[in-house]
Amino acid sequence: MTENNNQNKSPYQKGKNGNNMLKPPKFNAYWLYGLVAVAVIALNLLNIGQTPKEISWQKVKNEMIRNSDVDRIVVVRNLLEVNVYLKSESLDKYPSLFESSFDSPAKAGPHYNFPIGSIEQFAEQLNKAQENISEMNRIEPEYTTHENYFGDFIGWILPFALIIGIWFFVFKRMSKGAGGGGGGGNIFNVGKSKAKVFDKESNINVNFKDVAGLAEAKQEVEEIVEFLKHPQRYTKLGGKIPKGALLVGPPGTGKTLLAKAVAGEANVPFFSMSGSDFVEMFVGVGASRVRDLFKQAKEKSPCIVFIDEIDAIGRARGKNPNMGSNDERENTLNQLLTEMDGFDTNSGVIILAATNRADILDRALMRAGRFDRQIHVELPDLNERREIFAVHLRPLKLDPHIDQEFLAKQTPGFSGADIANVCNESALIAARKKKEIIEKQDFLDAIDRIIGGLEKKNKIISLQEKKTIAYHEAGHATISWMLEHAHPLVKVTIVPRGKALGAAWYLPEERSITTKEQMLDEMCSTLGGRAAEELTFAKISTGAQNDLEKVTKQAIAMVSIFGMSDKVGNVSYYDSSGQSDYGFSKPYSEKTAELIDSEVKILIDSSYKRAKQVLRDNMDKHSQLAELLLEREVIFSEDLEEIFGKRAFGKPEGLGEKKINPIKEEESNNEDNEIKAV
Ligand code: ATP
Repeated sequence: MTENNNQNKSPYQKGKNGNNMLKPPKFNAYWLYGLVAVAVIALNLLNIGQTPKEISWQKVKNEMIRNSDVDRIVVVRNLLEVNVYLKSESLDKYPSLFESSFDSPAKAGPHYNFPIGSIEQFAEQLNKAQENISEMNRIEPEYTTHENYFGDFIGWILPFALIIGIWFFVFKRMSKGAGGGGGGGNIFNVGKSKAKVFDKESNINVNFKDVAGLAEAKQEVEEIVEFLKHPQRYTKLGGKIPKGALLVGPPGTGKTLLAKAVAGEANVPFFSMSGSDFVEMFVGVGASRVRDLFKQAKEKSPCIVFIDEIDAIGRARGKNPNMGSNDERENTLNQLLTEMDGFDTNSGVIILAATNRADILDRALMRAGRFDRQIHVELPDLNERREIFAVHLRPLKLDPHIDQEFLAKQTPGFSGADIANVCNESALIAARKKKEIIEKQDFLDAIDRIIGGLEKKNKIISLQEKKTIAYHEAGHATISWMLEHAHPLVKVTIVPRGKALGAAWYLPEERSITTKEQMLDEMCSTLGGRAAEELTFAKISTGAQNDLEKVTKQAIAMVSIFGMSDKVGNVSYYDSSGQSDYGFSKPYSEKTAELIDSEVKILIDSSYKRAKQVLRDNMDKHSQLAELLLEREVIFSEDLEEIFGKRAFGKPEGLGEKKINPIKEEESNNEDNEIKAV
């Protein structure tokens, strides 16, 4: 019986545990306001209450006035209607008045009402109706105006209420979107800092062991952790604890990782925020967030504040405030400068910041006393790459023969993030092949894929196109084999990958400075593809677009930045401070611009001529290489050695690979690919 009852009940009546119970909705005080408002509006709209009954003027005239039942007649001017009040002793004569309890008039009146055309006309009609009545018994009309306080109130208030409502709604939405962390949800929290706080309780499982290489950078930040742990060790000698350190370096080199390791190692609270978190569409919010961040930090001192991508707010302030500069960002920066070195001493608060672009940061931010230390985090060298591989290979199931040294040699120019990506990609490739362990070939495939993109085996390429690509790539390979300063070649392929239809892969030397000769040789080998097409087929194609773009940029840089042109001289029009207005005006005259153009052209033309000459001198070997490439699709430096003999300028050490000079599809002038391709 009970069971049946239970089944019949609506599922909504079931409690949390499935037992049947009626859950009363939670009472909310706002309901009362709502109810009152609804009642008032309903009463007003329905006009429920004591209202006079409608009647015609004829009836009033012929019955009520004639029988002297009328006590008062009130004309409502603005409504053009007349209210009739009957004498109390005459009410009995009109029993229909109080028949219904719902819409009967008040006892005191008005009892009846009727509309009129105009006030003057009604006055005349009333006079006429009372012609035969004695002066004493005549009724003089009273005049009044109807005041609708409620309607007026609603008319005034409603638009304001609507505007305020919409305003609140929009702001709430925006502050929610901008919120997150501490500042979310409430419009009044929009100026609160959104820093994430990590302290002893938070579980950060990154420590210095997870950061491979970066020995100097690690030492510097380790020292900061030491400062915070044992300040007296430094202060007793009179030294001051540094205020901040700026981590500078290319993307993916481990700056954020280093900061995370500091958070994991230092036993002090760690505030983490990104530069863009300060920026909001409201004016003044950035500065207020900076203030709030430092207020919180001071309360928890000693502690570390980490601002990632500080260039979002720290960019150099413009000279001309009206021309494209961002006032809000500058206010935020000013506040940051004040907080970092204001009158208040932030004892025990150390600021760490990271950026890829130290060159565009405001100089005031970089001065000693704010960021006392700049820690450069560079792309890893061979040894560091090996160490980073060691960290990221740890969790993988590997073929025991995998050699970290070999992998490090394969990846010149890779950042820590790239290496992490290679390791992950190789695991995915191995898994795709349903392997139990990751093998060397999976790593090589992962590296190829990361540099060149996905292999496109099924791409439809005509025989003639394939031939052009083969001769083009063989052109690059031949020249780079023959010239002293060109990067040693490792592999040439005509297998399409990503947007590239073919590519020559090199092992770039790890050099810190580049000479003019090296640049010229590289330009020459880059132009080798087009030169080969012209010499072999007497036709040129769009395949060289990427090469030409690279060479042009290189030549412009040589002339206008590196001062490598005799005619233009030792000048550099590059502004490393990022504070120039070169966007609007060039720092040189029209005449110099023409000279730069002509020098660029001379450089490129002469390199092209040289490339053709090298190819002409090695015509047979070049075609032999191209034919071999057509046959095998991929050839290695060993094959080149067979054709050309030992390279006069040394053989590449490892099988390190870096792809440059890819021949590309016609439509491909995509920047992303350029980065991968170079
Ligand atoms: P960005 O400037 O683009 O923010 P970043 O320098 O802050 O880059 P991170 O976010 O620190 O780079 O690094 C990305 C990933 O690369 C890390 O999560 C880590 O897996 C890997 N990585 C980078 N450098 C190292 C390193 N030295 N040791 C181990 N792993 C590293």
